[in-house]
Amino acid sequence: VLAGLYNPGDGHIDPYSLTMALAAGARKYGAQLNYPVQVTNLNSRSDGTWEVETPLGIIRAKRIVNTAGFWAREIGKMIGLQHPLIPVHHQYVVTSTIPEVKALKTELPVIRDLEGSYYLRQERDGLLFGPYESEEKMKLQDSWVTNGVPPGFGKELFEPDLDRIMEHIEAAMEMVPVLKNADIINTIAGPITYSPDILPMVGPHQGVRNYWVAIGFGYGIIHAGGIGKYLSDWILQGEPPFDLIELDPNRYGKWTTTEYTAAKARESYGFNNIVGYPKEERFAGRPTERTSGLYDLLKSKCSMGFHTGWEQPHWFYKPGDETGYKPSFRRTNWFDPVGREYKQVMEKVGVIDLSPFGKFKVKGTDSVKLLDHLFANVVPKVGSTNISHMLTPRGKVYAELTVSQLSPGEFMLVTGSGSELHDLRWIEEEVTRGSYKVEIENMTDEMGVLGVAGPYARQILQKLTSEDLSDGSFKFLQSRHLKLSDIAVTAIRISYTGELGWELYHRKEDSLALYSAIMEAGQKEGIDNFGTYALNALRLEKGFRAWGAEMNCDTNPLEAGLEYFVKLNKPADFTGKQALKQIKEKGLKRRLVYLTLETDNVDPEGNESVWHNGKVIGNTTSGSFSYSAQQSLAFAYVPTELSKVGQKLEVELLGKNYPAAIVQEPLVLTEPTRMRLQRKGESPKV
Ligand SMILES: Cc1cc2nc3c(=O)[nH]c(=O)nc-3n(C[C@H](O)[C@H](O)[C@H](O)COP(=O)(O)OP(=O)(O)OC[C@H]3O[C@@H](n4cnc5c(N)ncnc54)[C@H](O)[C@@H]3O)c2cc1C
Repeated sequence: VLAGLYNPGDGHIDPYSLTMALAAGARKYGAQLNYPVQVTNLNSRSDGTWEVETPLGIIRAKRIVNTAGFWAREIGKMIGLQHPLIPVHHQYVVTSTIPEVKALKTELPVIRDLEGSYYLRQERDGLLFGPYESEEKMKLQDSWVTNGVPPGFGKELFEPDLDRIMEHIEAAMEMVPVLKNADIINTIAGPITYSPDILPMVGPHQGVRNYWVAIGFGYGIIHAGGIGKYLSDWILQGEPPFDLIELDPNRYGKWTTTEYTAAKARESYGFNNIVGYPKEERFAGRPTERTSGLYDLLKSKCSMGFHTGWEQPHWFYKPGDETGYKPSFRRTNWFDPVGREYKQVMEKVGVIDLSPFGKFKVKGTDSVKLLDHLFANVVPKVGSTNISHMLTPRGKVYAELTVSQLSPGEFMLVTGSGSELHDLRWIEEEVTRGSYKVEIENMTDEMGVLGVAGPYARQILQKLTSEDLSDGSFKFLQSRHLKLSDIAVTAIRISYTGELGWELYHRKEDSLALYSAIMEAGQKEGIDNFGTYALNALRLEKGFRAWGAEMNCDTNPLEAGLEYFVKLNKPADFTGKQALKQIKEKGLKRRLVYLTLETDNVDPEGNESVWHNGKVIGNTTSGSFSYSAQQSLAFAYVPTELSKVGQKLEVELLGKNYPAAIVQEPLVLTEPTRMRLQRKGESPKV
């Protein structure tokens, strides 16, 4: 043993007593508990309320929360949902009295040995030991997924299987030799419900009104109290009390099949005690059914990343590159290739597969009214696009979308791959609440998207269409339907790279033909691919914020530096407007700042501590190497009094504090700004 971490706050609790204590607390505050009463069916009523059928009669409910543990799939099935959950067998063993343990004056702390992959604690005068087997050895109870949980299965246990955990028992005996002399007096083997990524699913579920879930708890005892409070606060306040986006049940969708869930649960269980890396990729269950039209063509040419079921190129290989996924806390094999792709976009032109974007069509008589109420920005004119934010009633950022009015009253809304159903649920809820007459179509799986960006983007696309793509005719943030090489696309002049670029929305079955036509047309200009790592470096240099990093439901748009997109003066009373006015009046306590850092072979990723005068005063939200400034770059939240340009700070990376300084953003001007300055005769800084 080289080192250990001691947490004096660690402990253990009897789950039965905890459950009873929580129930007593709930009763004290007016909850009515009937136990045991089985829910046998669920019926949704046209007003959004529920009829919950039980042997004791029907209970009417405004909303229901599925908290049925390993029965949660069965409850979901009652309303046509297939929750991606699977029970896994987990075992722990309890030993007889061990004299050395009995002689202890204070109770042993809970010991976790990551290498041996087990936890161990004192149980009376003996020890209790629970291992996590490797993904090959662990056991899934998949028959419960295919055939359902056997009726009546309650507190029963599975047949113990000590052979399966023998290597962990041996590892524990090495670490804690007194175990060698102890007898195993009890083995507990029970079902734990796993979601694919082992995190629970907590919150309202998209597609079913007033149906909430708190399911998929691999560690449900430790999470129970916190999750109960989080859920009840959300229900009472109408918005999440704080950001727990990782637990959003809507991160899963139709693509999370039983096969996928089983493969992922196996992997997640086996990885319980492994070291996680930045930019981590896990490969079980991939690819899913949800692949882009370019997947087969690109899969061997790049390192793919997994985004809500999709495979999206992170970076592309060239001869001489060390290929594949090489995890590290430091820069690794992707670093130079990403620099090459960065240069490609800045100096020539690059193509990126953006098909994982969430895409919705919204139309109908009330579409303008709806979007004016939902978004803090103004509704774009016909043929125009803008970046818009949906705020919570308390004025926090719920989502960021690109909104285009394609024809009068017909809109296309685009969001990131990770927020598709998260955003759709919020929009649908508002439609119902306000009885808006609109139709919403989720086009995510049918539509492909290609991004083309760089100085030659116009020149190349112009070869494929008779439409005039010149700056005068197709301005920045304009959108229109056109044909490229006879393929119908909706083109938006926008690019998250901040360079001259278009996003081309098209039928997924046309992706390959469109991609080939663009690559062919760009031969002379030296067109090439780029991936999301280069995109991240490009957007950070331009000072573009990312949803989920710089903004989420813990941040308001003013502290996030998004004032430009928030129109407090627009007539519509958009959600969050009043709260935001108050926030503005009171003044901001913290601000998002733009930092350059002096580092060595490591870059910030987000969530690192920011230090000043020996104290942690904030945290980074995202970061990257800036290939133009040749130094690391990060966004961070710091107190307002420490947020001025020039302020010196430190950022902690891998246990070391590196010097950082707040600089004026952006580091590199966007192409539209450069053009505007050029037209005015000013020299742009690039
Ligand atoms: C061997 C083992 C060791 C574990 N160790 C730990 C640990 O150290 N720390 C930790 O945090 N977690 C641990 N867990 C996991 C923990 O037990 C679970 O995560 C937790 O119990 C899940 O809580 P839950 O409320 O989601 O589901 P459950 O505890 O399963 O509760 C679900 C409830 O829903 C009820 N229900 C189901 N269907 C219906 C229906 N149709 N109508 C009405 N009621 C219904 C059930 O009767 C049950 O009361 C362990 C689990 C096992 C098996």
